Amino acid sequence: MDSILRTSLHNFESAAERLGLDESVRRRVLGPKEKVEVAINPVLPNGETANVKVFVGRHNDAIGPAKGGIRMTPDVTLDDITGLAMEMTWKTSLIGVPFGGGKSGIRFDPASISADAKEIIIRSFTRGVRRHIGPELYIPAPDMGTTEADMAHIRDCISYSEGTSITNGCFVTGKPVVLGGIVGRREATGKGVVYAVLAMCEKLGLDIGSTRVVVQGFGNVGSVAAAEIARHGAKVVGVADLSGGVANADGMDIDALHEHCSQSGTVAGFAGATEIDKDEVFGLDCDILIPAAAGSQITEENADSIRAKIVAEGANAPTTPQADEILNRRGVLVIPDILCNAGGVFVSYLEYTQETQREQMTLAEVEQRLADRMRQRFGEVHESARREGLSMRDAAMNMAVRGVVEAVTARGFRP
Ligand code: GLU
Repeated sequence: MDSILRTSLHNFESAAERLGLDESVRRRVLGPKEKVEVAINPVLPNGETANVKVFVGRHNDAIGPAKGGIRMTPDVTLDDITGLAMEMTWKTSLIGVPFGGGKSGIRFDPASISADAKEIIIRSFTRGVRRHIGPELYIPAPDMGTTEADMAHIRDCISYSEGTSITNGCFVTGKPVVLGGIVGRREATGKGVVYAVLAMCEKLGLDIGSTRVVVQGFGNVGSVAAAEIARHGAKVVGVADLSGGVANADGMDIDALHEHCSQSGTVAGFAGATEIDKDEVFGLDCDILIPAAAGSQITEENADSIRAKIVAEGANAPTTPQADEILNRRGVLVIPDILCNAGGVFVSYLEYTQETQREQMTLAEVEQRLADRMRQRFGEVHESARREGLSMRDAAMNMAVRGVVEAVTARGFRP
């Protein structure tokens, strides 16, 4: 079993145990409701026929239609998608949006193909899983390896086959603003991470301006979180991505790092810092560590080397259960993924309502609602952890699972 799924199952089983869930309810909530694997065979611009496995998982839809991104990586598996869909169920429940949990996957390396070829694969994916997507069923969004442009192609593929300009309702979020997307969606996950960190610093009486931060991953989440936290005065002393790492104890100019990265495609080689091995990044001396790359990055092998006081999980399932135990034992405060990175799906919900109601929201409204929701939910999780003597992950899982159980129970048990 892949480790993301193992982590998700472990987190659920321990919540079920703490909450003393009845066996029939436990089994219903354990899910998944649906998981499918579909083969697509698009002909790419070079004339070759690609054989691509794609996956859709709907873990639970008791609260509302399944919501969650499309992961496009060369090694994504149906197990990963099942685990990540489950994670979305807890995330949407915890952040309080009327969605369930879903996820989809495209097993292909997006970095190995042209924009043209990617569009063909995305359109082929959309047609291949069309009957699993819909405003009342599963609404995809960007995730690792997919972007705003891909969401535009999904929407166009669906409206084109209907012969209409727009889709009838919101079929996908994270679209470009000009095609019914919402302002601020792209930055929402990274900003949400920083709002959670700010709330944690406030609880600890820690001045964000005097903190040192390390970020693993410089994609949509890591790069925005780094820029936003630097804007609040923190020093970003280390950043790593797939190709390398850079460190500077005096803090880095994140705009310049961004510029370097958009030219070279990696943080490695940035002139404003010293080169380090990407695996050394966790051991850097800092106050706050933001893992914002892949899953299962903090493991029992490296958890002891982490020197941060706060770990803010920008990625999904970045910490294995064994590593989580080590961090807890060492008193490292972990802001769990289902809370920390929920800003993205929260703003996806705003996009969904905006499109459904044919309304328009301003950036100021979106940012205010995001900041308020992150702060409010952080406060509730923090308070519940304190009251019940739990880690924030366990408190967040208790709250999230309770919400889903309440919906499952309210629906009733008859067909
Ligand atoms: N892929 C993001 C996540 O893991 C966003 C999902 C969404 O907006 O539906 O939370």
